[in-house]
Amino acid sequence: MDLIVIGGGANGAGAARDAALRGLSVAVFEREDWGAGTTGHSTRMIHGGLRYLLYDVPTTRASSVDAGHIREIAPHLTFRIPFLWPLYGGEGLFGEAKEALLAAYDRFAPAKHGLKHVRLSAADARRIEPGLAPAVSGALTLDEWGIDVYRLAALNALAAREAGAQLYAHTEVVELLRSGDGRTVTGVRARDRLDGRTFDVEARVVLNAAGPWVPFIAAMADASAPLRPGKGVHVTFERRIGNFGMVLEGVDGRTMFLVPHGAETIAGTTDTDFYGDPARADLEVGADDVAYIVEACARALPQAREWRVLRVWAGVRNTVFEWGVDSDDLSRRHETVDHASRDRIDGLISIVGGKLASNRAQAEEAVDLAVAKLGRPARPSRSAATPLPGAEPEPDFLALAREIPLPPAALALVWRRLGSRMREVFRAAGPDDVAPICRAEAVTAAELRHAVLTEGCRTLEDLRRHAHLATGGCDGLDCAAPAAHLLAELLGWTPARTRAELDSFLEHRWAERRPALTGVALAQEELFRASFGEAGPGQ
Ligand SMILES: Cc1cc2nc3c(=O)[nH]c(=O)nc-3n(C[C@H](O)[C@H](O)[C@H](O)COP(=O)(O)OP(=O)(O)OC[C@H]3O[C@@H](n4cnc5c(N)ncnc54)[C@H](O)[C@@H]3O)c2cc1C
Repeated sequence: MDLIVIGGGANGAGAARDAALRGLSVAVFEREDWGAGTTGHSTRMIHGGLRYLLYDVPTTRASSVDAGHIREIAPHLTFRIPFLWPLYGGEGLFGEAKEALLAAYDRFAPAKHGLKHVRLSAADARRIEPGLAPAVSGALTLDEWGIDVYRLAALNALAAREAGAQLYAHTEVVELLRSGDGRTVTGVRARDRLDGRTFDVEARVVLNAAGPWVPFIAAMADASAPLRPGKGVHVTFERRIGNFGMVLEGVDGRTMFLVPHGAETIAGTTDTDFYGDPARADLEVGADDVAYIVEACARALPQAREWRVLRVWAGVRNTVFEWGVDSDDLSRRHETVDHASRDRIDGLISIVGGKLASNRAQAEEAVDLAVAKLGRPARPSRSAATPLPGAEPEPDFLALAREIPLPPAALALVWRRLGSRMREVFRAAGPDDVAPICRAEAVTAAELRHAVLTEGCRTLEDLRRHAHLATGGCDGLDCAAPAAHLLAELLGWTPARTRAELDSFLEHRWAERRPALTGVALAQEELFRASFGEAGPGQ
Protein backbone atom coordinates (compact mmCIF):
# COMPACT_ATOMS: atom_id res chain seq x y z
CA MET A 1 0.00 0.00 0.00
CA ASP A 2 1.30 3.52 -0.83
CA LEU A 3 -0.80 5.53 1.59
CA ILE A 4 -2.97 4.96 4.65
CA VAL A 5 -5.27 7.80 5.66
CA ILE A 6 -6.50 7.94 9.27
CA GLY A 7 -9.80 9.84 9.56
CA GLY A 8 -12.77 10.05 7.23
CA GLY A 9 -13.78 13.67 7.73
CA ALA A 10 -13.66 16.22 4.92
CA ASN A 11 -9.85 16.23 5.00
CA GLY A 12 -9.22 12.48 5.25
CA ALA A 13 -11.90 11.38 2.79
CA GLY A 14 -10.79 14.21 0.50
CA ALA A 15 -7.14 13.10 0.72
CA ALA A 16 -8.10 9.48 -0.01
CA ARG A 17 -9.96 10.63 -3.12
CA ASP A 18 -7.14 12.92 -4.26
CA ALA A 19 -4.52 10.18 -3.80
CA ALA A 20 -6.59 7.47 -5.48
CA LEU A 21 -7.27 9.77 -8.45
CA ARG A 22 -3.48 10.18 -8.81
CA GLY A 23 -3.06 6.42 -9.06
CA LEU A 24 -1.75 5.73 -5.53
CA SER A 25 -2.88 2.60 -3.68
CA VAL A 26 -4.81 3.90 -0.67
CA ALA A 27 -6.69 2.66 2.42
CA VAL A 28 -8.71 5.00 4.64
CA PHE A 29 -9.77 4.24 8.22
CA GLU A 30 -12.63 6.00 10.00
CA ARG A 31 -13.51 5.07 13.59
CA GLU A 32 -17.16 5.93 13.09
CA ASP A 33 -18.66 7.10 9.79
CA TRP A 34 -17.68 9.56 7.04
CA GLY A 35 -18.02 13.10 8.38
CA ALA A 36 -19.08 11.99 11.86
CA GLY A 37 -16.37 14.06 13.61
CA THR A 38 -15.80 17.82 13.41
CA THR A 39 -16.93 17.95 9.78
CA GLY A 40 -20.44 16.87 10.75
CA HIS A 41 -20.53 19.26 13.71
CA SER A 42 -19.51 22.42 11.86
CA THR A 43 -21.71 25.36 10.81
CA ARG A 44 -21.70 23.69 7.38
CA MET A 45 -20.65 26.68 5.35
CA ILE A 46 -17.97 26.84 2.71
CA HIS A 47 -17.30 30.50 3.26
CA GLY A 48 -14.22 32.65 2.96
CA GLY A 49 -14.52 33.73 6.57
CA LEU A 50 -15.51 37.38 6.83
CA ARG A 51 -14.12 37.75 10.34
CA TYR A 52 -10.74 36.22 9.49
CA LEU A 53 -10.26 39.09 7.04
CA LEU A 54 -9.38 41.24 10.06
CA TYR A 55 -6.31 39.21 10.99
CA ASP A 56 -5.73 36.41 8.49
CA VAL A 57 -6.27 37.48 4.86
CA PRO A 58 -4.42 34.45 3.33
CA THR A 59 -6.91 32.07 5.02
CA THR A 60 -9.87 34.06 3.69
CA ARG A 61 -8.35 34.02 0.21
CA ALA A 62 -7.51 30.29 0.25
CA SER A 63 -10.97 29.40 1.62
CA SER A 64 -12.74 31.53 -0.99
CA VAL A 65 -10.80 29.95 -3.86
CA ASP A 66 -11.35 26.42 -2.60
CA ALA A 67 -15.03 27.09 -1.84
CA GLY A 68 -15.32 27.95 -5.54
CA HIS A 69 -13.79 24.58 -6.48
CA ILE A 70 -16.03 22.67 -4.05
CA ARG A 71 -19.10 24.41 -5.44
CA GLU A 72 -18.05 23.30 -8.95
CA ILE A 73 -17.37 19.64 -8.11
CA ALA A 74 -20.40 19.24 -5.83
CA PRO A 75 -23.21 21.52 -7.09
CA HIS A 76 -25.90 19.13 -5.78
CA LEU A 77 -24.55 19.33 -2.20
CA THR A 78 -24.15 23.10 -2.06
CA PHE A 79 -26.78 25.82 -1.76
CA ARG A 80 -26.63 29.58 -1.77
CA ILE A 81 -27.25 31.35 1.58
CA PRO A 82 -27.95 35.06 1.25
CA PHE A 83 -27.30 36.66 4.66
CA LEU A 84 -28.60 39.83 6.27
CA TRP A 85 -26.25 41.60 8.66
CA PRO A 86 -28.52 43.94 10.63
CA LEU A 87 -27.51 47.53 11.34
CA TYR A 88 -28.78 48.88 14.64
CA GLY A 89 -29.83 52.46 15.38
CA GLY A 90 -27.22 54.14 17.52
CA GLU A 91 -24.24 51.97 16.56
CA GLY A 92 -22.87 54.90 14.53
CA LEU A 93 -19.40 54.33 13.13
CA PHE A 94 -19.54 50.61 13.93
CA GLY A 95 -22.18 50.24 11.20
CA GLU A 96 -19.84 51.96 8.74
CA ALA A 97 -17.03 49.61 9.84
CA LYS A 98 -19.26 46.61 9.05
CA GLU A 99 -19.79 47.94 5.54
CA ALA A 100 -16.07 48.67 5.07
CA LEU A 101 -15.33 45.05 6.03
CA LEU A 102 -17.89 43.80 3.51
CA ALA A 103 -16.46 46.06 0.83
CA ALA A 104 -13.07 44.38 1.41
CA TYR A 105 -14.73 40.93 1.44
CA ASP A 106 -16.37 41.68 -1.93
CA ARG A 107 -12.95 41.20 -3.55
CA PHE A 108 -13.22 37.48 -2.76
CA ALA A 109 -16.82 37.09 -4.00
CA PRO A 110 -15.92 36.07 -7.60
CA ALA A 111 -13.62 33.25 -6.38
CA LYS A 112 -16.45 31.63 -4.42
CA HIS A 113 -19.05 32.39 -7.09
CA GLY A 114 -20.76 34.82 -4.72
CA LEU A 115 -22.45 38.18 -5.09
CA LYS A 116 -21.15 41.48 -3.75
CA HIS A 117 -22.80 43.10 -0.74
CA VAL A 118 -25.71 45.53 -0.92
CA ARG A 119 -26.87 48.06 1.72
CA LEU A 120 -30.59 47.87 2.45
CA SER A 121 -32.83 50.50 4.05
CA ALA A 122 -34.84 49.50 7.13
CA ALA A 123 -37.97 49.20 4.95
CA ASP A 124 -36.26 46.94 2.38
CA ALA A 125 -34.73 44.78 5.12
CA ARG A 126 -38.19 44.34 6.70
CA ARG A 127 -39.72 43.45 3.35
CA ILE A 128 -37.26 40.51 3.28
CA GLU A 129 -37.52 39.67 6.99
CA PRO A 130 -40.63 41.17 8.63
CA GLY A 131 -39.66 39.87 12.08
CA LEU A 132 -36.62 42.14 12.49
CA ALA A 133 -36.34 43.86 15.88
CA PRO A 134 -37.55 47.50 16.13
CA ALA A 135 -33.94 48.59 16.77
CA VAL A 136 -32.81 47.40 13.33
CA SER A 137 -32.20 50.47 11.16
CA GLY A 138 -31.11 48.74 7.94
CA ALA A 139 -29.04 45.78 6.83
CA LEU A 140 -26.09 44.71 4.74
CA THR A 141 -26.22 41.59 2.58
CA LEU A 142 -23.59 38.89 2.36
CA ASP A 143 -23.55 35.91 0.01
CA GLU A 144 -22.23 32.49 1.13
CA TRP A 145 -22.64 28.77 0.37
CA GLY A 146 -23.92 26.03 2.64
CA ILE A 147 -23.11 22.37 2.13
CA ASP A 148 -24.34 18.93 3.19
CA VAL A 149 -21.25 18.02 5.19
CA TYR A 150 -22.03 14.33 5.69
CA ARG A 151 -22.65 13.84 1.99
CA LEU A 152 -19.44 15.75 1.20
CA ALA A 153 -17.40 13.31 3.27
CA ALA A 154 -19.36 10.23 2.14
CA LEU A 155 -19.12 11.11 -1.55
CA ASN A 156 -15.38 11.81 -1.26
CA ALA A 157 -15.02 8.34 0.27
CA LEU A 158 -17.20 6.76 -2.43
CA ALA A 159 -15.20 8.53 -5.15
CA ALA A 160 -11.98 7.28 -3.55
CA ARG A 161 -13.33 3.72 -3.63
CA GLU A 162 -14.39 4.08 -7.25
CA ALA A 163 -10.80 5.17 -8.02
CA GLY A 164 -9.48 2.04 -6.28
CA ALA A 165 -9.15 2.96 -2.57
CA GLN A 166 -10.07 0.54 0.23
CA LEU A 167 -12.57 1.99 2.71
CA TYR A 168 -12.78 0.94 6.37
CA ALA A 169 -15.62 2.72 8.20
CA HIS A 170 -16.34 1.98 11.90
CA THR A 171 -12.70 0.90 12.08
CA GLU A 172 -10.43 2.57 14.61
CA VAL A 173 -6.67 2.79 14.30
CA VAL A 174 -5.51 1.55 17.70
CA GLU A 175 -1.77 1.48 17.09
CA LEU A 176 0.80 2.74 14.58
CA LEU A 177 3.13 -0.01 13.35
CA ARG A 178 6.77 1.03 13.46
CA SER A 179 10.19 -0.13 12.34
CA GLY A 180 12.39 -1.92 14.90
CA ASP A 181 14.12 1.33 15.96
CA GLY A 182 10.73 3.07 16.29
CA ARG A 183 11.80 5.85 13.90
CA THR A 184 9.60 4.97 10.91
CA VAL A 185 5.84 4.45 10.79
CA THR A 186 5.13 1.44 8.58
CA GLY A 187 1.36 0.95 8.89
CA VAL A 188 -1.55 0.68 11.29
CA ARG A 189 -3.25 -1.83 13.54
CA ALA A 190 -7.01 -1.35 13.24
CA ARG A 191 -10.06 -2.68 15.08
CA ASP A 192 -13.53 -2.92 13.61
CA ARG A 193 -15.65 -1.36 16.36
CA LEU A 194 -18.79 -3.27 15.37
CA ASP A 195 -17.46 -6.82 15.07
CA GLY A 196 -14.26 -6.50 17.13
CA ARG A 197 -11.98 -7.87 14.35
CA THR A 198 -8.37 -6.57 14.59
CA PHE A 199 -5.97 -6.53 11.65
CA ASP A 200 -2.80 -4.83 10.36
CA VAL A 201 -2.26 -2.93 7.10
CA GLU A 202 1.18 -1.71 6.01
CA ALA A 203 1.94 1.38 3.93
CA ARG A 204 4.91 3.50 2.99
CA VAL A 205 3.24 6.71 4.20
CA VAL A 206 0.55 7.26 6.85
CA LEU A 207 -1.51 10.47 6.76
CA ASN A 208 -3.01 11.50 10.08
CA ALA A 209 -6.19 13.41 9.18
CA ALA A 210 -7.96 12.75 12.46
CA GLY A 211 -9.15 16.32 13.08
CA PRO A 212 -9.18 17.03 16.83
CA TRP A 213 -7.85 13.50 17.42
CA VAL A 214 -4.62 14.35 15.49
CA PRO A 215 -2.48 14.63 18.67
CA PHE A 216 -3.74 11.24 19.95
CA ILE A 217 -2.65 9.56 16.69
CA ALA A 218 0.69 11.42 16.63
CA ALA A 219 1.36 10.31 20.21
CA MET A 220 1.08 6.65 19.08
CA ALA A 221 4.43 7.26 17.31
CA ASP A 222 5.89 9.41 20.12
CA ALA A 223 5.30 12.45 17.92
CA SER A 224 3.35 15.62 18.65
CA ALA A 225 0.99 17.99 16.82
CA PRO A 226 0.47 21.70 17.57
CA LEU A 227 -3.27 21.74 18.23
CA ARG A 228 -5.48 23.95 20.40
CA PRO A 229 -8.92 22.32 20.34
CA GLY A 230 -12.01 24.48 20.83
CA LYS A 231 -15.59 23.45 21.41
CA GLY A 232 -18.38 25.01 19.34
CA VAL A 233 -22.06 24.55 20.23
CA HIS A 234 -24.98 24.89 17.78
CA VAL A 235 -28.72 24.66 18.17
CA THR A 236 -31.10 23.41 15.49
CA PHE A 237 -34.51 25.04 15.33
CA GLU A 238 -37.35 22.83 14.13
CA ARG A 239 -38.37 24.83 11.07
CA ARG A 240 -36.81 26.67 8.17
CA ILE A 241 -37.41 30.10 9.65
CA GLY A 242 -36.62 32.06 6.52
CA ASN A 243 -34.72 31.89 3.28
CA PHE A 244 -32.10 34.36 4.47
CA GLY A 245 -29.32 33.67 6.94
CA MET A 246 -28.59 36.26 9.61
CA VAL A 247 -25.26 37.50 10.99
CA LEU A 248 -25.83 37.52 14.76
CA GLU A 249 -24.14 39.44 17.54
CA GLY A 250 -23.91 37.74 20.94
CA VAL A 251 -24.28 39.55 24.26
CA ASP A 252 -20.46 39.70 24.41
CA GLY A 253 -20.22 41.09 20.86
CA ARG A 254 -19.15 37.78 19.28
CA THR A 255 -20.31 37.08 15.75
CA MET A 256 -22.52 34.04 15.16
CA PHE A 257 -24.74 32.85 12.31
CA LEU A 258 -28.37 31.84 11.84
CA VAL A 259 -28.41 29.55 8.82
CA PRO A 260 -31.38 28.07 6.91
CA HIS A 261 -30.42 24.47 6.22
CA GLY A 262 -32.94 22.34 4.34
CA ALA A 263 -36.14 22.13 6.35
CA GLU A 264 -34.51 23.42 9.54
CA THR A 265 -32.44 26.35 10.80
CA ILE A 266 -29.16 26.15 12.68
CA ALA A 267 -27.60 28.80 14.90
CA GLY A 268 -24.19 29.10 16.48
CA THR A 269 -21.52 28.80 17.38
CA THR A 270 -19.81 29.25 20.71
CA ASP A 271 -16.02 28.95 20.88
CA THR A 272 -14.29 27.78 24.04
CA ASP A 273 -11.07 25.85 24.70
CA PHE A 274 -11.77 22.14 25.13
CA TYR A 275 -9.50 19.53 26.64
CA GLY A 276 -11.80 16.49 26.82
CA ASP A 277 -12.45 13.55 24.53
CA PRO A 278 -13.65 15.03 21.20
CA ALA A 279 -16.13 12.15 20.85
CA ARG A 280 -17.88 13.30 24.03
CA ALA A 281 -18.14 17.05 23.27
CA ASP A 282 -21.86 16.64 22.55
CA LEU A 283 -22.42 15.58 26.13
CA GLU A 284 -20.78 18.67 27.53
CA VAL A 285 -23.43 21.15 26.48
CA GLY A 286 -25.68 22.96 28.90
CA ALA A 287 -28.80 25.13 29.05
CA ASP A 288 -26.51 28.20 29.32
CA ASP A 289 -25.08 27.51 25.85
CA VAL A 290 -28.59 27.29 24.45
CA ALA A 291 -29.73 30.51 26.14
CA TYR A 292 -26.61 32.35 24.93
CA ILE A 293 -27.30 31.39 21.29
CA VAL A 294 -31.06 31.97 21.47
CA GLU A 295 -30.50 35.45 22.95
CA ALA A 296 -28.13 36.31 20.07
CA CYS A 297 -30.91 35.31 17.64
CA ALA A 298 -33.45 37.34 19.63
CA ARG A 299 -31.44 40.56 19.35
CA ALA A 300 -32.16 40.51 15.59
CA LEU A 301 -35.41 38.50 15.66
CA PRO A 302 -37.17 38.82 19.06
CA GLN A 303 -39.60 35.97 18.32
CA ALA A 304 -36.60 33.58 18.43
CA ARG A 305 -37.38 33.01 22.13
CA GLU A 306 -40.54 31.18 21.01
CA TRP A 307 -38.93 28.94 18.39
CA ARG A 308 -38.73 25.25 19.21
CA VAL A 309 -35.15 24.02 19.64
CA LEU A 310 -35.09 20.55 18.14
CA ARG A 311 -31.56 19.58 19.09
CA VAL A 312 -28.29 20.90 20.51
CA TRP A 313 -24.90 19.65 19.36
CA ALA A 314 -21.22 20.43 19.69
CA GLY A 315 -18.08 19.90 17.64
CA VAL A 316 -14.39 20.33 18.41
CA ARG A 317 -12.30 22.68 16.27
CA ASN A 318 -8.86 21.43 15.33
CA THR A 319 -7.22 24.86 15.47
CA VAL A 320 -3.45 25.37 15.16
CA PHE A 321 -1.91 26.07 18.60
CA GLU A 322 -1.16 29.64 19.64
CA TRP A 323 -0.51 30.93 23.15
CA GLY A 324 -2.01 34.14 24.51
CA VAL A 325 -4.87 34.50 22.00
CA ASP A 326 -8.58 34.29 22.75
CA SER A 327 -9.91 31.04 21.24
CA ASP A 328 -12.30 33.03 19.04
CA ASP A 329 -9.39 34.94 17.52
CA LEU A 330 -7.22 31.93 16.69
CA SER A 331 -6.22 31.79 13.04
CA ARG A 332 -8.08 29.18 10.97
CA ARG A 333 -4.93 28.53 8.92
CA HIS A 334 -3.67 24.98 8.52
CA GLU A 335 -0.30 23.22 8.60
CA THR A 336 0.77 20.05 6.82
CA VAL A 337 3.16 18.61 9.37
CA ASP A 338 5.98 16.30 8.25
CA HIS A 339 6.90 14.45 11.44
CA ALA A 340 10.31 13.62 9.95
CA SER A 341 11.22 17.31 10.39
CA ARG A 342 9.19 17.97 13.52
CA ASP A 343 9.85 14.83 15.60
CA ARG A 344 12.39 12.79 13.56
CA ILE A 345 9.67 10.17 12.89
CA ASP A 346 9.54 9.19 9.22
CA GLY A 347 6.53 7.95 7.22
CA LEU A 348 3.98 10.10 9.11
CA ILE A 349 2.24 13.31 8.02
CA SER A 350 -0.48 15.21 9.93
CA ILE A 351 -3.02 17.79 8.79
CA VAL A 352 -3.46 20.35 11.58
CA GLY A 353 -6.07 23.13 11.60
CA GLY A 354 -7.82 24.60 8.60
CA LYS A 355 -11.41 24.92 7.51
CA LEU A 356 -14.08 22.90 5.84
CA ALA A 357 -14.10 25.55 3.12
CA SER A 358 -10.51 24.77 2.17
CA ASN A 359 -10.60 20.99 2.78
CA ARG A 360 -9.97 20.06 -0.86
CA ALA A 361 -6.83 22.23 -1.03
CA GLN A 362 -5.59 20.95 2.36
CA ALA A 363 -6.06 17.37 1.16
CA GLU A 364 -4.21 18.13 -2.07
CA GLU A 365 -1.29 19.67 -0.17
CA ALA A 366 -1.03 16.66 2.17
CA VAL A 367 -1.06 14.23 -0.77
CA ASP A 368 1.63 16.33 -2.54
CA LEU A 369 3.84 15.76 0.51
CA ALA A 370 2.97 12.04 0.59
CA VAL A 371 3.94 11.73 -3.09
CA ALA A 372 7.24 13.52 -2.41
CA LYS A 373 7.93 11.07 0.43
CA LEU A 374 7.11 8.08 -1.79
CA GLY A 375 9.81 9.36 -4.12
CA ARG A 376 8.20 8.18 -7.32
CA PRO A 377 6.22 10.06 -9.95
CA ALA A 378 2.45 10.26 -9.65
CA ARG A 379 -0.16 12.11 -11.67
CA PRO A 380 -0.83 15.71 -10.54
CA SER A 381 -3.92 16.30 -8.42
CA ARG A 382 -7.23 16.17 -10.31
CA SER A 383 -9.47 16.76 -7.31
CA ALA A 384 -10.43 20.35 -8.26
CA ALA A 385 -11.64 19.32 -11.70
CA THR A 386 -13.20 15.89 -11.09
CA PRO A 387 -16.90 16.02 -10.11
CA LEU A 388 -18.05 14.10 -7.04
CA PRO A 389 -20.45 11.18 -7.69
CA GLY A 390 -23.85 12.40 -8.89
CA ALA A 391 -22.68 15.96 -9.60
CA GLU A 392 -24.72 17.22 -12.53
CA PRO A 393 -26.76 20.37 -13.14
CA GLU A 394 -30.16 20.26 -11.44
CA PRO A 395 -32.81 18.61 -13.66
CA ASP A 396 -36.42 19.64 -14.27
CA PHE A 397 -38.08 17.78 -11.38
CA LEU A 398 -41.50 17.75 -13.09
CA ALA A 399 -39.92 15.90 -16.01
CA LEU A 400 -37.96 13.61 -13.67
CA ALA A 401 -41.23 12.64 -11.93
CA ARG A 402 -42.24 10.88 -15.17
CA GLU A 403 -39.11 8.70 -14.82
CA ILE A 404 -39.08 8.11 -11.04
CA PRO A 405 -42.42 7.59 -9.22
CA LEU A 406 -41.95 10.27 -6.55
CA PRO A 407 -43.55 13.75 -6.30
CA PRO A 408 -41.35 16.55 -7.72
CA ALA A 409 -40.82 18.12 -4.27
CA ALA A 410 -39.58 14.77 -2.91
CA LEU A 411 -37.28 14.34 -5.92
CA ALA A 412 -35.74 17.74 -5.21
CA LEU A 413 -34.89 16.63 -1.65
CA VAL A 414 -33.38 13.33 -2.77
CA TRP A 415 -31.41 15.06 -5.55
CA ARG A 416 -29.59 17.11 -2.90
CA ARG A 417 -28.23 13.84 -1.48
CA LEU A 418 -27.72 11.61 -4.51
CA GLY A 419 -27.64 13.94 -7.50
CA SER A 420 -27.85 12.10 -10.81
CA ARG A 421 -27.07 8.79 -9.03
CA MET A 422 -30.71 8.72 -7.96
CA ARG A 423 -31.60 7.36 -11.39
CA GLU A 424 -29.64 4.15 -10.60
CA VAL A 425 -31.10 3.98 -7.09
CA PHE A 426 -34.70 4.07 -8.33
CA ARG A 427 -34.25 2.25 -11.66
CA ALA A 428 -35.80 -1.03 -10.53
CA ALA A 429 -37.82 0.34 -7.60
CA GLY A 430 -41.23 -1.23 -6.93
CA PRO A 431 -44.13 0.48 -5.05
CA ASP A 432 -42.80 -0.65 -1.63
CA ASP A 433 -39.39 0.83 -2.40
CA VAL A 434 -40.76 4.31 -3.03
CA ALA A 435 -43.23 4.45 -0.11
CA PRO A 436 -41.81 7.11 2.27
CA ILE A 437 -40.15 5.89 5.47
CA CYS A 438 -39.39 9.46 6.58
CA ARG A 439 -41.88 11.94 5.12
CA ALA A 440 -40.01 15.06 6.26
CA GLU A 441 -36.96 14.26 4.14
CA ALA A 442 -38.58 11.96 1.51
CA VAL A 443 -36.47 8.98 2.60
CA THR A 444 -37.55 5.72 0.97
CA ALA A 445 -36.57 2.06 1.33
CA ALA A 446 -34.82 2.30 -2.07
CA GLU A 447 -32.50 5.03 -0.79
CA LEU A 448 -31.83 3.26 2.52
CA ARG A 449 -31.03 0.05 0.64
CA HIS A 450 -28.56 1.99 -1.52
CA ALA A 451 -27.04 3.56 1.61
CA VAL A 452 -26.44 0.08 3.08
CA LEU A 453 -25.50 -1.94 0.00
CA THR A 454 -23.54 0.69 -1.95
CA GLU A 455 -22.41 3.25 0.60
CA GLY A 456 -21.70 0.73 3.37
CA CYS A 457 -24.00 2.00 6.16
CA ARG A 458 -24.12 -0.35 9.15
CA THR A 459 -26.11 1.55 11.82
CA LEU A 460 -29.15 3.80 12.16
CA GLU A 461 -26.83 6.74 12.88
CA ASP A 462 -25.14 6.03 9.53
CA LEU A 463 -28.53 6.23 7.81
CA ARG A 464 -29.18 9.53 9.53
CA ARG A 465 -25.94 10.97 8.14
CA HIS A 466 -26.17 9.42 4.65
CA ALA A 467 -29.90 9.69 3.97
CA HIS A 468 -31.16 12.33 6.49
CA LEU A 469 -33.24 9.68 8.27
CA ALA A 470 -34.89 11.07 11.45
CA THR A 471 -33.82 14.65 10.89
CA GLY A 472 -37.39 16.02 10.70
CA GLY A 473 -39.51 17.44 13.50
CA CYS A 474 -40.53 14.02 14.91
CA ASP A 475 -36.85 13.36 15.62
CA GLY A 476 -37.07 9.71 14.57
CA LEU A 477 -40.23 8.62 16.37
CA ASP A 478 -41.96 7.84 13.05
CA CYS A 479 -39.14 6.47 10.93
CA ALA A 480 -36.50 4.91 13.21
CA ALA A 481 -38.39 1.63 13.78
CA PRO A 482 -39.17 0.85 10.10
CA ALA A 483 -35.60 1.79 9.18
CA ALA A 484 -34.25 -0.51 11.92
CA HIS A 485 -36.34 -3.39 10.52
CA LEU A 486 -34.95 -2.77 7.04
CA LEU A 487 -31.39 -2.70 8.40
CA ALA A 488 -32.09 -5.96 10.26
CA GLU A 489 -33.29 -7.58 7.04
CA LEU A 490 -30.26 -6.38 5.04
CA LEU A 491 -27.61 -7.08 7.69
CA GLY A 492 -29.13 -10.22 9.24
CA TRP A 493 -29.65 -8.78 12.73
CA THR A 494 -31.45 -10.69 15.49
CA PRO A 495 -34.53 -9.07 17.11
CA ALA A 496 -32.44 -8.30 20.21
CA ARG A 497 -29.74 -6.58 18.14
CA THR A 498 -32.41 -4.59 16.30
CA ARG A 499 -34.03 -3.50 19.57
CA ALA A 500 -30.68 -2.46 21.05
CA GLU A 501 -29.86 -0.42 17.95
CA LEU A 502 -33.21 1.34 18.08
CA ASP A 503 -32.90 2.09 21.80
CA SER A 504 -29.42 3.50 21.41
CA PHE A 505 -30.52 5.64 18.46
CA LEU A 506 -33.49 7.12 20.35
CA GLU A 507 -31.33 7.63 23.43
CA HIS A 508 -28.95 9.73 21.34
CA ARG A 509 -31.86 11.83 20.05
CA TRP A 510 -32.91 12.43 23.68
CA ALA A 511 -29.36 13.48 24.62
CA GLU A 512 -29.47 16.08 21.83
CA ARG A 513 -32.91 17.36 22.89
CA ARG A 514 -32.31 17.38 26.63
CA PRO A 515 -30.24 20.64 26.98
CA ALA A 516 -32.97 22.60 25.18
CA LEU A 517 -35.75 21.54 27.55
CA THR A 518 -36.73 23.46 30.67
CA GLY A 519 -39.73 23.74 32.99
CA VAL A 520 -42.94 21.95 32.04
CA ALA A 521 -41.62 20.60 28.73
CA LEU A 522 -38.71 18.90 30.52
CA ALA A 523 -40.98 17.54 33.28
CA GLN A 524 -43.37 16.12 30.69
CA GLU A 525 -40.62 14.35 28.70
CA GLU A 526 -39.02 12.98 31.89
CA LEU A 527 -42.43 11.63 32.98
CA PHE A 528 -43.02 10.10 29.54
CA ARG A 529 -39.62 8.40 29.56
CA ALA A 530 -40.06 7.14 33.11
CA SER A 531 -43.50 5.70 32.22
CA PHE A 532 -42.42 3.91 29.07
CA GLY A 533 -38.82 3.04 29.85
CA GLU A 534 -35.70 4.98 28.90
CA ALA A 535 -36.25 5.00 25.13
CA GLY A 536 -39.99 5.79 25.15
CA PRO A 537 -42.97 3.59 24.21
CA GLY A 538 -42.59 0.01 23.06
CA GLN A 539 -40.19 -1.27 25.76
C1 LIG B 1 -18.38 24.38 15.77
C2 LIG B 1 -17.59 24.39 14.50
C3 LIG B 1 -18.06 25.10 13.40
C4 LIG B 1 -17.32 25.11 12.22
N1 LIG B 1 -17.85 25.73 11.14
C5 LIG B 1 -17.16 25.75 9.98
C6 LIG B 1 -17.74 26.32 8.83
O1 LIG B 1 -18.91 26.71 8.79
N2 LIG B 1 -16.97 26.40 7.72
C7 LIG B 1 -15.68 25.95 7.69
O2 LIG B 1 -15.03 26.11 6.67
N3 LIG B 1 -15.13 25.34 8.76
C8 LIG B 1 -15.84 25.21 9.89
N4 LIG B 1 -15.32 24.57 10.98
C9 LIG B 1 -14.03 23.89 10.85
C10 LIG B 1 -14.20 22.57 10.07
O3 LIG B 1 -15.33 21.89 10.53
C11 LIG B 1 -12.97 21.67 10.23
O4 LIG B 1 -11.82 22.39 9.82
C12 LIG B 1 -13.06 20.41 9.38
O5 LIG B 1 -14.32 19.84 9.40
C13 LIG B 1 -12.04 19.41 9.89
O6 LIG B 1 -12.14 18.23 9.12
P1 LIG B 1 -11.20 17.01 9.43
O7 LIG B 1 -11.46 15.99 8.38
O8 LIG B 1 -9.80 17.46 9.59
O9 LIG B 1 -11.64 16.51 10.88
P2 LIG B 1 -12.88 15.55 11.30
O10 LIG B 1 -14.09 15.87 10.54
O11 LIG B 1 -12.95 15.57 12.78
O12 LIG B 1 -12.39 14.14 10.81
C14 LIG B 1 -11.47 13.37 11.56
C15 LIG B 1 -12.01 11.96 11.65
O13 LIG B 1 -11.03 11.12 12.23
C16 LIG B 1 -11.71 10.07 12.87
N5 LIG B 1 -10.80 9.43 13.81
C17 LIG B 1 -10.33 9.93 14.97
N6 LIG B 1 -9.51 9.03 15.57
C18 LIG B 1 -9.46 7.95 14.75
C19 LIG B 1 -8.81 6.68 14.82
N7 LIG B 1 -8.02 6.35 15.87
N8 LIG B 1 -8.99 5.80 13.82
C20 LIG B 1 -9.79 6.10 12.75
N9 LIG B 1 -10.45 7.29 12.65
C21 LIG B 1 -10.28 8.21 13.63
C22 LIG B 1 -12.89 10.77 13.54
O14 LIG B 1 -13.96 9.89 13.82
C23 LIG B 1 -13.24 11.85 12.53
O15 LIG B 1 -14.37 11.49 11.73
C24 LIG B 1 -16.07 24.47 12.16
C25 LIG B 1 -15.61 23.75 13.26
C26 LIG B 1 -16.38 23.68 14.41
C27 LIG B 1 -15.93 22.87 15.57
